[in-house]
Amino acid sequence: MRFASLGSGSQGNALVVDAGETKVLVDCGFSTRMATARLARLGTCAEDLAAILVTHEHGDHVAGVFSLAGRYRIPVYLTHGTHAAAARGRSGLPECRLIDGHAPFAVGCLEVQPFPVPHDAREPVQYAFSDGAHRLGVLTDSGSITPHIVDVLGLCDALVLECNHDQGLLAASRYPTHLKRRIAGRFGHLENGQAAALLQQVDTRRLQHLVAAHLSQENNRPRLAAAALATALGCDEDWIGVADQDGGFDWRQLI
Ligand SMILES: [Zn+2]
Ligand SMILES: [Zn+2]
Repeated sequence: MRFASLGSGSQGNALVVDAGETKVLVDCGFSTRMATARLARLGTCAEDLAAILVTHEHGDHVAGVFSLAGRYRIPVYLTHGTHAAAARGRSGLPECRLIDGHAPFAVGCLEVQPFPVPHDAREPVQYAFSDGAHRLGVLTDSGSITPHIVDVLGLCDALVLECNHDQGLLAASRYPTHLKRRIAGRFGHLENGQAAALLQQVDTRRLQHLVAAHLSQENNRPRLAAAALATALGCDEDWIGVADQDGGFDWRQLI
């Protein structure tokens, strides 16, 4: 299994998970043109996608999902709440498969485990993936950590983990107070210290890859996120990957 990102941050997110015979996209916050160009950059294409798995209805995750899915006839997997919120006012939707946020399901040779997260959307989930040999856990857009999140992300071979903001930079930013409260709240986004605290709670014995994701360009810095996670793991900062808005990150292979 390997994984890569088309881009990550508040302007758009999309992650490709490739288990050999089965490739899926998690979210698509990019236009069809941009998504296909970025898939090509990774040596793949939309025709190869077996599914688009949606985490929640916020634009940075769902803006490009339905047009990409419609154009290439890709089934879209999402919770009932996300479907209700994201599909409102749209017609001619592509095939949508409603999922239970607690029930694992299969897409080709990938086992997908959705798990609910505290975020200010209708029915948000994040996903963990297994091909039988390796496990990848993805967590962005979570305002706080739950015991269930700690369980699901344990013993992963790779983690993509939200480091949305640095507390100090957010507090000092020019964002209006209500927005600062929303971002830092229990249903907002994880800051570097929370992501680090999560890492200290999960079983990281099998971890081969750790990528910080969904960084705010305004309220975080890649080196702050990497430093927080490296301190929590007791590893070198250079070992931590940091996803960026335009470049995402290149393929990472699980061995
Ligand atoms: Zn987001
Ligand atoms: Zn969100």
